[in-house]
Amino acid sequence: MTSSIIKENVPMLLMGIVLPFYIAAKMESGNYDLLSFPTNWTPKLDLCVSVVYIAWLLGQLILYMLDVGEVIPGPVLRQGKRLNYRLNGFFAMVVNILVFLFATLCGFRVAVIFEKITEVVTIACLIQFLISFILLFTQKTENLPNYNINPVVNRGNILEDWLVGRSISPRIGFLDLKFVFARTGMIALVLFNFSVMAKYYEDNKTTNYTLLLAIGMALVYTADNLYHESSIVFIREMREGCGITLLIYMIGISVEYGLVVSYVATTKHELPLYCLLLIAVIFLLGYWTYRSSNNEKSHYRANPDDPIFKEYETITTASDKHLLVSGWWGMSRHPNYLGDIVIHVAMSFAAGFTNGLPHLNAALITSMLLYRERMDYDECKDKYGDDWDRYCHRVKWRVIPYIY
Ligand code: NDP
Repeated sequence: MTSSIIKENVPMLLMGIVLPFYIAAKMESGNYDLLSFPTNWTPKLDLCVSVVYIAWLLGQLILYMLDVGEVIPGPVLRQGKRLNYRLNGFFAMVVNILVFLFATLCGFRVAVIFEKITEVVTIACLIQFLISFILLFTQKTENLPNYNINPVVNRGNILEDWLVGRSISPRIGFLDLKFVFARTGMIALVLFNFSVMAKYYEDNKTTNYTLLLAIGMALVYTADNLYHESSIVFIREMREGCGITLLIYMIGISVEYGLVVSYVATTKHELPLYCLLLIAVIFLLGYWTYRSSNNEKSHYRANPDDPIFKEYETITTASDKHLLVSGWWGMSRHPNYLGDIVIHVAMSFAAGFTNGLPHLNAALITSMLLYRERMDYDECKDKYGDDWDRYCHRVKWRVIPYIY
């Protein structure tokens, strides 16, 4: 009988593979009509692109290993074990941007990243497949330390092990592959957007304010996430296994998030100034909600006795943790998801409404976060039992106050 892990992960994996190729083919064709299927969207392997991509990827691993940035303990795994993570994603992003600028000044055609996006996606996917097979055949359940064993698999089904990974954190010494790939996707997005801008300038010898706004918003979001990289250490994926489904999902980030920018550049789409201002305001409101609520919770979890929380109401639980019912976390159970959704909706507004495809990413992220809220609900119900019900009674809204 097919297990629920296979049933859930096979469609996710297929979507994770198909979507980046579909989007890359749409970018190449310049036809962003959601329902017109691209005629040529097969993978393309290019030796030169592959060599540069592999060199770049190795560069990202080296940047992580440099003794720059704070090292913090991650989430508590079984046996109370906590793995250490180095927080230098923002530094890595700055180095990447500087190298990119240097390459541009030296006359290297950086627009080629955008032009060869299918070739980049192809090699990126191949490498993730290769890594997933290496992990599958080198990580034997009996040799993994107990805290690193993915508890939902490792029961003799090789397909399950491949899909969601035998170990939680595949590591080569200190080098944590899952953590580095998460940041690599975000850095790739920054470089991709800059490459689109270079292509636009090359073709038009001018700039476009809508394009600058779209790139600016993506840059703020990415830089913020890399600057607050400690939050990434504690997202649920860091406590779950690392198999091909997750590895492939991380490739999609740069392509799917790059849709709006590539659409605006290719179609030379320009919005009037008042629309740009309105979009910027919506984006900043989303960003403020996202960052302040995330900071409030992490600050409270790290230092619940801080005097700034003196006036806050909390719900006591049977565990040693309390749940905030004041501030952002009293407005809805996931104000941070609300902020994230508003950010992505604002970003997609930059593409206007003549075409559906540029809104695909905002739609995907919204559905992913609403699904994630359900998963977190179940997890908190298991963790806090009746205390969680009391919290939900006080804080009625799941994500959007008065709506959902
Ligand atoms: P959250 O940061 O929302 O954390 C949920 C946890 O917070 C709960 O399990 C609980 O854990 C704690 N918590 C819940 N309610 C309260 C409360 N009232 N008071 C105190 N603590 C509470 O989860 P995620 O890891 O899913 O998300 C982190 C961020 O990353 C979000 O902003 C999300 O938008 C973003 N994200 C974005 C993605 C994207 O692709 N755009 C993908 C994934 C995440 P405990 O009680 O054990 O501390």
